[in-house]
Amino acid sequence: MPNAANIPLHAGQAPEGTAMCAGAESTAAQVDLFGLDRTGLEDFFEQRLGEQRYRAHQVMKWIHHRHVTDFGQMTDLGKGLRAKLEQHAVVQAPAVLLEKPSADGTHKWLVGMDGRNAVETVFIPDKGRGTLCVSSQIGCGLACTFCSTGTQGFNRNLTAAEIIGQVWIAAKHLGNVPHRQRKLTNVVMMGMGEPLLNFDNVVRAMSVMRDDLGFGLANKRVTLSTAGLVPMIDRLGQESDVSLAVSLHAPNDELRSELVPLNKKYPIAELLGACQRYVARKPRSSVTFEYTLMKGVNDQPAHARQLARLMRRFDNAVQMQDAAKVNLIPFNPFPGTRYERSPAGDIRGFQQILQEARVLATVRRTRGDDIDAACGQLKGQVLDRTRRNAQFRKQLQARDGGDITDAAA
Ligand code: SAH
Repeated sequence: MPNAANIPLHAGQAPEGTAMCAGAESTAAQVDLFGLDRTGLEDFFEQRLGEQRYRAHQVMKWIHHRHVTDFGQMTDLGKGLRAKLEQHAVVQAPAVLLEKPSADGTHKWLVGMDGRNAVETVFIPDKGRGTLCVSSQIGCGLACTFCSTGTQGFNRNLTAAEIIGQVWIAAKHLGNVPHRQRKLTNVVMMGMGEPLLNFDNVVRAMSVMRDDLGFGLANKRVTLSTAGLVPMIDRLGQESDVSLAVSLHAPNDELRSELVPLNKKYPIAELLGACQRYVARKPRSSVTFEYTLMKGVNDQPAHARQLARLMRRFDNAVQMQDAAKVNLIPFNPFPGTRYERSPAGDIRGFQQILQEARVLATVRRTRGDDIDAACGQLKGQVLDRTRRNAQFRKQLQARDGGDITDAAA
């Protein structure tokens, strides 16, 4: 992969800060319609163009169902309106810098965002469904020790347009038409970044994913995964309605604080409290707790028993069996990491302890690891604004003294 600084600027892609790339938040002359949800687009038609609100619906269908971004091709709009749109708006799909198909059907895109940074988006087909893993930030500031993105540092939040752009690229590639030719059935906000630290843009993008005029996904088929920002989980419950996944990874605070530094701010008891409030707002909802299994770190029978107790207590608190679901993720290695994947037998043993305690526990099948597209392997191209990446490189050099070009480039 090229270095961040070497990413070529693609045809039609404007340099950072210009109107074309600036997204819906821009005050510049042209608004990028990718970044607007139904209400935003209706307002745009009414207030900016002086048109009927329903015109927004036609344009949404052109963009998200037919994958047309050129106003000239939107043939059911009058000529006058098309000319107005050309003057006031753009539909700017992010540039695909690289595409990698995997032997198992997984497909990864490196999506250029501003000529200097890029994120990764991954499509994972499975029996009867297709899941897209979408990024919410360029890099990540949370520095979870076992996550590749965490070693890269952070550049910025993605705009709503850039988040929706990833879904659009995949939908176009797959020839997806909501309710008719359904290839994309699920979206998980589990790519690069912490979605709850980019709240407004993520919520707006998820509303387009769930809109029939957008990608037409059922609410429960859009999942937001968080490392555990307690106040924002509560806000999500008030402002949106999607499935919640929480990266737990450890059954006690001491270990979790080591793996997920955010735990020092929002320890397990507080986190589980917010999750309980989240499921309590709606009958029959649940929370998925992700638990990455690392050899000798968090995969021992004692950890499984402790986790089982936490999960049972959770079910009891909300008075619903299986309100807490555990998703065990075999650790995916990346260059420079000190962790290893737990042996298959230990993973099965861990699952069994949970099941015997009547806790619903599944093991996530590793997909796309031959193209570095598995959980925790996403890197993209991040122009780090923090010192995280430099620190990681320094640690590696001190430890191995060897070649680290691959590890953190
Ligand atoms: N910041 C969000 C979303 C990104 S991570 C969150 O923390 O949930 C998506 C999932 O992949 C999380 O559960 C994360 O903990 C897991 N993950 C990260 N690194 C991994 C690795 N190396 N192997 C397996 N899973 C990993």
